[in-house]
Amino acid sequence: MIIPKGSKLSPEQLAEVEKIAENFDCSILEIQGHNRCVYAILGDESREVMFKRIAGLHFIHRVDMIESPYKLMDRRSGLSDHSVKIGENEVGSVAPFIIGGPCTIDPDNPNLFLETAHALKEAGVNALRGGVWKPRTNPYSYQGDVKALEIILQAREETKLPIDLEVMDGEQLKIAHEAGVDVLQIGTRNALNYSLLKEVGSLTAGSKVSVLLKRGRHMASPNEFIAAAEYLVAAGNPNILLCPRGTTPILDGYRNHPDESITPLLKNRTWAPVIVDPSHSVGHADFVKACSIASIAYGADGLCIESHIEPSKGIGDDPKQAITPAVMKELIDACQMVWSNRYQTDF
Ligand code: PEP
Ligand code: MN
Repeated sequence: MIIPKGSKLSPEQLAEVEKIAENFDCSILEIQGHNRCVYAILGDESREVMFKRIAGLHFIHRVDMIESPYKLMDRRSGLSDHSVKIGENEVGSVAPFIIGGPCTIDPDNPNLFLETAHALKEAGVNALRGGVWKPRTNPYSYQGDVKALEIILQAREETKLPIDLEVMDGEQLKIAHEAGVDVLQIGTRNALNYSLLKEVGSLTAGSKVSVLLKRGRHMASPNEFIAAAEYLVAAGNPNILLCPRGTTPILDGYRNHPDESITPLLKNRTWAPVIVDPSHSVGHADFVKACSIASIAYGADGLCIESHIEPSKGIGDDPKQAITPAVMKELIDACQMVWSNRYQTDF
């Protein structure tokens, strides 16, 4: 990991570094953060002579060798001060960053989404979510409709809130990216789809687009989750949000096994913001508030919550797990109180 003295290497400086790396069968990947660029050495970075030659260049501040399975996501990497900005907000700076909206946008009832969007803006959310394409367990269930993209774009236009939606393949990715979607969600089922992760990372490299990576439901190890995020950063996009959303259920009563408690562990190992999804974790509207408050107490930077103006009229997960905008407002106030008073741990 190469850290330049300035905010970025000039093309000539980069060429000089690349020339040294090539002599040792390595290449250089530029990673554009908000404030500066860092450069990852791809290949065997432990070559001492290469290391010293690069470190000795007058325009290089530092070269770090990070022995970690996820050297870009690692807290000790040159990206440790990278902040993720969505719309006007720096995630995790002054208040919990709240993403809210229905599980699934009903393309036949655009007003339900638009009214939900306005009510959520009033309630204080920072970004809107809504499923355009849906990963459904049953192939005969509603699979999504590109018409829903127009609806969420209209909601963004009207509310001026950034938008988050899930993409499951390269085609959806291109459509969403061309439409200027602010946050691309990789869902729990695709969290280990390395081809998709690479494609998302490279298509959005150097852009403002963020990627909300859900933790795989089947993932046992937090390191496997972090390594999946590493794919996105290694492909060029460091605007990552790590999203615990519950794992394989072992509790009779919750939809999944709530995993907000891995937040401190993720923050200890990485620099990335953590946005917990309590809705899929507990899977029942009545339990969402408690799980949200617990997540903030655990140190989460924000929440991604399913919410619908009239949950019983929703499709997908909404009838059982969406909260109303009124409950969202109470939840945001309660989370803000916890946030302001929480014990500040230096992870
Ligand atoms: C969703 O966000 O509606 C969704 C399907 O999420 P997950 O991938 O966590 O199941
Ligand atoms: Mn859902």
